[in-house]
Amino acid sequence: MTAAGRWCTRIVLTGVLPIVCLALLLAALHGAIWGWVVAASGLMLVVLLQTRRLALLAAWIDGPQQGEVPDSGGAWGEVFRKLSRKLRLDARALAEVEARLGSFSDAMDAVPDGLVVLSENHQVQWANRAAGEHLGIRLPRDGGAIIQQLVRAPGFAEYLSSPAGQPPFILLSPAARRRAYSLRAVPLGERNTLLVSLDVTDARRVEAMRSTFVANVSHELRTPLTVVSGFLEHFGDESAMSAEQRQQFVRLMSEQTRRMLSLVDDLLTLSRLEAEDAPASEEDIDMADLLAQLQAEAEGLSCGRHRLQFRCGGPGLRGNRHELHSAFGNLVSNAIRYTPAGGDIRVRWKLRAGVAVFSVRDSGVGIAAEHLPRLTERFYRVDRGRSRDTGGTGLGLAIVKHILLRHQAVLVIDSQPGVGSNFRAEFPEWRLRPQPSPALPAADEA
Ligand code: ADP
Repeated sequence: MTAAGRWCTRIVLTGVLPIVCLALLLAALHGAIWGWVVAASGLMLVVLLQTRRLALLAAWIDGPQQGEVPDSGGAWGEVFRKLSRKLRLDARALAEVEARLGSFSDAMDAVPDGLVVLSENHQVQWANRAAGEHLGIRLPRDGGAIIQQLVRAPGFAEYLSSPAGQPPFILLSPAARRRAYSLRAVPLGERNTLLVSLDVTDARRVEAMRSTFVANVSHELRTPLTVVSGFLEHFGDESAMSAEQRQQFVRLMSEQTRRMLSLVDDLLTLSRLEAEDAPASEEDIDMADLLAQLQAEAEGLSCGRHRLQFRCGGPGLRGNRHELHSAFGNLVSNAIRYTPAGGDIRVRWKLRAGVAVFSVRDSGVGIAAEHLPRLTERFYRVDRGRSRDTGGTGLGLAIVKHILLRHQAVLVIDSQPGVGSNFRAEFPEWRLRPQPSPALPAADEA
């Protein structure tokens, strides 16, 4: 309505009513017909104008209410203004509730556990994003669907219908994804249920590793213990044993005891390495000196059965000498143990393109490609018999890997069955230091 229109309406309403009253009075006192006519026309005009105002208000209520409330004078104007204020307040409250709901929903989507609200008959009412990842539930597509039809796993329907407080249901995802979820149903209010899903894949993997490890250790200890206890039984009846036999038994028993001791030593070393993230101390290592020490030990182990060659052409190295001695010593002793008599073993420390490499190359039995990725797993052996016969515990390369990791170094293995192996520990440049004493012949490029 234009401003002129509004003014006309006001003038008419304020002017017409006194005229109507006057006409009614005159018509009543003098019985003048024109009085009734004027009064009736005036009243009709007033009703028409009020109806028009109500029509305007109805149109405004139906509309988006972005504009101002239609301007009306008098009592209607007051009603319109109050209505407008109430609508404004309601709109603000609604916007606030929507904003809160939005941030609550964002928070629920950020929760790493899956959450699904189920009705009394297990229909999906609401679910967060993690529930989509764990159980494949997507809203609005699955809203109202029965959960047992979405999560099809043997035993799940029974779990949902069982009383509260049961141990969680473990859901294994399809084989390709190899994930495991723990599902727990919690009562929500009077009738609803909250289904919480937790990704327990890693926890189950760790648990499986732990129990495999315990089984392996028990097995490794059981074998020598069985041998020793068998021999001890014979010692009960000394008369049935010659002095020679007794000597042989004692030798075999001490061999088994040594085996158990080295297994326990390796286990302790591994657990210590796992307990700490970094070596307790580091120093500048004279690599020529360390290689000389390794060479002396290798000669003792080989007893002249192999051609050994040690070369030091690299710089000094920053690290924990005790740990690196143990890692390098493991690689050298493996080369000796897995190389038949007459074979070659070459140990090098050299610098190539900014990377310092400690390498042990042998002409031994070699390793087939499919075993290479698993060699550093605890107790993984290519040839169990050979490992045992040569005093192996199956933990050597696991220890090497841990020690190298603590020195930000990587272990690279090349090998060919029947030809030999090359184990290389590669160190980052920032660990290198000037080498104080080039005591061993420099490495050639071989
Ligand atoms: P082990 O005590 O059995 O030697 P390791 O962890 O040191 O345990 O080595 C794991 C396996 O890797 C060994 O059992 C062996 O099969 C293989 N291996 C390690 N070094 C060599 C090598 N130089 N030549 C051939 N095979 C090797």
